[in-house]
Amino acid sequence: MFCPKCGTELADGANFCPDCGTPDNANTTVAVNKPVNKIILYVCVIFAAIFIPLGAVGILDRGINGVSFLFLIIGIACASIADNLWKRTNVKK
Ligand SMILES: [Zn+2]
Repeated sequence: MFCPKCGTELADGANFCPDCGTPDNANTTVAVNKPVNKIILYVCVIFAAIFIPLGAVGILDRGINGVSFLFLIIGIACASIADNLWKRTNVKK
């Protein structure tokens, strides 16, 4: 593999570029983290898509009660986590 910054060929398992000192693990760390972040992102989006309508319908149907309010809070929390992850994965690109 080659240094992403200067193009010097790197030895297998090298942590730093011998030429410019760019840490080689920056790329591999992103590559490892990205799929995990995306799975959490999708799970949060799905949770938000399920719990927000569920809570909203419950509140509209039966008025504000504990379970519906909890569903709505969980949904909004998941939506904000998904929003954060979405921004972070976009910044990393
Ligand atoms: Zn380099």
